[in-house]
Amino acid sequence: MEYTLLAPGPTPLPPSVSEILARPMIHHRTETFSKAFYSCIEKLKKVYRTETSDVLMVTASGSGGMEAAVVNLLSPGDKALVCVTGVFGDRFVKLLRAYGLDPIVISTELGRALDPDKLKNQLLMFPDVKAVFLQHTDTSTGIVNDVKTIANVIRDNSDALIVIDAISGLAAEELQTDAWDLDVVVAGSQKGLMAPPGLAFFCISPNAWKAVDEARLPRFYFDWKALRFAAEKGQTPYTPAVNVVFAQEEALRLITAEGIENVWKRTSELASFARAEVKKRGWNLFAKDPANILTGIVMPEGTDSQAVVSAILAEDNISIAGGQASLAGKIVRLAHMGYIQKADVERGFSALEKRISITTT
Ligand SMILES: *Cc1c(COP(=O)(O)O)cnc(C)c1O
Repeated sequence: MEYTLLAPGPTPLPPSVSEILARPMIHHRTETFSKAFYSCIEKLKKVYRTETSDVLMVTASGSGGMEAAVVNLLSPGDKALVCVTGVFGDRFVKLLRAYGLDPIVISTELGRALDPDKLKNQLLMFPDVKAVFLQHTDTSTGIVNDVKTIANVIRDNSDALIVIDAISGLAAEELQTDAWDLDVVVAGSQKGLMAPPGLAFFCISPNAWKAVDEARLPRFYFDWKALRFAAEKGQTPYTPAVNVVFAQEEALRLITAEGIENVWKRTSELASFARAEVKKRGWNLFAKDPANILTGIVMPEGTDSQAVVSAILAEDNISIAGGQASLAGKIVRLAHMGYIQKADVERGFSALEKRISITTT
């Protein structure tokens, strides 16, 4: 039975991307590598919608990218504000605490996006906040934040840097780095960007670079200045995930050929289809402010979502995701970003239907 990957990362690879991964290894201190590197950076700028920010990459999963944003922007004793809409906002909190900082935390009810007014109140209360961290889309709850409005609120009420985790949102939901005036946008190769796990990307504004000059948290592997210095020659300071860079170049070729606006539109249409499939069956959507990257479905009373996930994998060879942290056992999450096709989503719903027969209200 063919395997169907419907988890929200890593996501399925287009065949031309998989093909590139099978090529023989090459050395990275070569012109061939630098060409692929530059090509990724140039195409990523289109995906990020930026002409004024620098784009860099590092070999790491998305969380490494989040850590890089923390250590390159802040100093001991700095005040930071984290907007927690789920597990990934919590990760920023843990990261900041690991570096000895004591972040101000705004938490929303799970399944809800951040309320910009709530953020405004906190910014007025703490005028010396150095950076605000939040998710574009929180993959644990399936919400999308109104980043455009939130960025406006931050600019109007604070000098804080705007740091966005778009690891699952980039190349899936609308994001405009320049037009929305975002300082740092972190992304990862393995979600909307349709490449294998292994690369984290950063979009860094001129304003953010000023903060990098002043930041004093310890850093070595994730030092953006070292990354920028090497990037000027189409290189990375240390051995990169060579074949992932080539795979990412191909995936970005597909994305830019389709056009990023068309990617957003296609993802949004597939999300509408998925939400309609949920409602049609009388099930409940988890997110009140749903993202287009995935659909979270609330399990009826007495149904353990983890058992549903395991049964679907064992019997139908389909990977969907359960809930994380406090949502474990309570929801399933079915992704529809990147290379996931409508037929895949339909297969996911047929498999779910066999295990969730009870209609909820
Ligand atoms: C996947 C993801 C991450 C990072 O996860 P890794 O497993 O480290 O790649 C961070 N934030 C969001 C919103 C994500 O979806």
